[in-house]
Amino acid sequence: MRHSRCVILCVLIGLVSLPARADFHVFACEPEWAALTRALMPDAHFTTATSYLQDPHYIEARPSLIAAMGRADIAICTGASLEAGWLPTLLQRAGNAQVQPGRTGLFFAADHAQLHAPHDHVDRSMGDVHPEGNPHVHLSPDQLPKIAEALAKRLGELRPEHSADIFARYITWRVNWNSHRERWRESAKALEGHSFVIQHTGFSYLLSWLGVGSTVDLEPKPGLPPSASHLSQLLTDPGLDKASAILIASHQDRKPAEWLVKQTNKPILVLPGTVTDDSPNDNLAGLISTIVGRLESSITEVSDGSL
Ligand SMILES: [Zn+2]
Repeated sequence: MRHSRCVILCVLIGLVSLPARADFHVFACEPEWAALTRALMPDAHFTTATSYLQDPHYIEARPSLIAAMGRADIAICTGASLEAGWLPTLLQRAGNAQVQPGRTGLFFAADHAQLHAPHDHVDRSMGDVHPEGNPHVHLSPDQLPKIAEALAKRLGELRPEHSADIFARYITWRVNWNSHRERWRESAKALEGHSFVIQHTGFSYLLSWLGVGSTVDLEPKPGLPPSASHLSQLLTDPGLDKASAILIASHQDRKPAEWLVKQTNKPILVLPGTVTDDSPNDNLAGLISTIVGRLESSITEVSDGSL
């Protein structure tokens, strides 16, 4: 009896002493935004709609996600039409007034970045092109600080009582990011001028920041799966000869890349396109360091002739 009373009391004390931020519910469309928000508000509750093993363009608005969106104090997504196939349905079904378009509770990272390759005109013949530009901005060493700063401001607006803490964490994040960026800059010296075969534009911001070429794409058009005719055409692409390796993301079908490996003997690199659950790739700086390290070792292995 005494024991059970203690248990009840302990639970009650535990509840009372929980920090207020534990009541703050974050809905992240992609894991990179959950990781970034966690750096600013580590005590919040997180629901992440997609994982590094999924293609963020296409997911289902399943009931558990609708329920999580219904509870969200903030929804943090990429924007620039990346989630156009599922986010509007999710927002509408959840019916949470806090996180509707135009409200402070809906944050789009792409609104705070300068997107590459915007289009004035898009039509279906171009494939799945986003008119706003390439939305896969989360691996951009230069754009992330702008997004993180805007996110810190937005979180501070939603929880003014914690805005000083959030801003202090943003500064810590920024200092850490800048020191990583210096190291990536060093690696870029070795990588500059090399090129990689890609599949979609998921790594493009990072590759172009590193001075690495990526003109040969396994996709015939953005968002369209590699076709046999497109792959055989690639064999005559002069860019293919120059490419050091074939780079694809963990969620992508490996078969097209493996076919090209057989034809060309080039190495294949399969890397997470976004943060994973495990260290060191569970945060964006760690993930970029992994990608840069793997790119570097792929070019040294190739020049050593060890493959
Ligand atoms: Zn895309």
